[in-house]
Amino acid sequence: MQKELIKINNLHVEYKTSNGILGKNKTIYAVNGVSLDIYKGEILAIAGESGCGKSTLAKAILKLEQAKNGEICFEESDILKLDKKGVKEYRKKVQMIFQNPYSSLNPKMKIIDTLKEPLKINTNLSEKEIIKNIEEKIALVGLDKNCLNLYPHEFSGGQRQRIAIARALMLEPEFILADEPVSALDVSIQAQIINLLKDLKEKYNLTFLLITHDLSVIKFLADRIAIMYLGEIVEIGTNKEIFSEPKHPYTKALLSAAPQLTKNNIEKLTLKGDLPSPSNPPMGCKFHTRCPFAMQKCHEQNPQEINLSNTHKVKCFLYCK
Ligand code: SF4
Repeated sequence: MQKELIKINNLHVEYKTSNGILGKNKTIYAVNGVSLDIYKGEILAIAGESGCGKSTLAKAILKLEQAKNGEICFEESDILKLDKKGVKEYRKKVQMIFQNPYSSLNPKMKIIDTLKEPLKINTNLSEKEIIKNIEEKIALVGLDKNCLNLYPHEFSGGQRQRIAIARALMLEPEFILADEPVSALDVSIQAQIINLLKDLKEKYNLTFLLITHDLSVIKFLADRIAIMYLGEIVEIGTNKEIFSEPKHPYTKALLSAAPQLTKNNIEKLTLKGDLPSPSNPPMGCKFHTRCPFAMQKCHEQNPQEINLSNTHKVKCFLYCK
């Protein structure tokens, strides 16, 4: 049986707009009652359009965004209730790989100093042990130790992302959040980084939360996939369940945009209209304004989650018995 590393219960994250197209002081309901387990050693991907709440959910897990209520349990303690010392300890165990490796590395620091930093701040290792550690991690991501005295601008985009991955590994975290880890890279380099992430997960039993809009990356990397729409998880299942037997109309519409990744017998749906504003989500099923199957009750009630199998769950009235 799989063991949960992270257990999220009924999480709500809201924030106020300061300005912009939505206006001032509007409440954004970014994450709306999300419950989700992330199992040790898996890659769980979250898919959905921009503005669906996936990045806010990820930031809440890293404590970079304040949750309004709910629980995020990491190894059974609720991280929303941690004191300052607890947060410091938690942050050693969770790391992030960013979309743009260049902006995530300090251009004025040599790579060796960038990699030393987390060990100097968080451990009592001697200089010799730190160097040994750095050389191990840089080899792990497929780079030569001779590169350690260079600056970020002396590397290609793919090499910089390898360095960013090495930095994320320095404290030997248990959980890594990868936010669009290859979307800023040339297509020719993307496959190398994707393979590296897969290797690291398999060799070291690392747990990843993968945030990306790229369904081909999700199909290759993810063990399970959660589909998010307007702050809610509308479907979750194994890679096979989502790509071969998608159930929610929104999942089918997302997959219709990438027909090469799915079987021919999967119903093709075209998304109508834009994502409604997260400051003013529709009543009832949040997807009813764009759903070709919407019924009267979809306008009035939000469907409960239905178990289709031990691993496959969907929120849609079409599957209520
Ligand atoms: Fe469509 Fe209704 Fe299902 Fe929502 S509950 S996805 S509106 S059929």
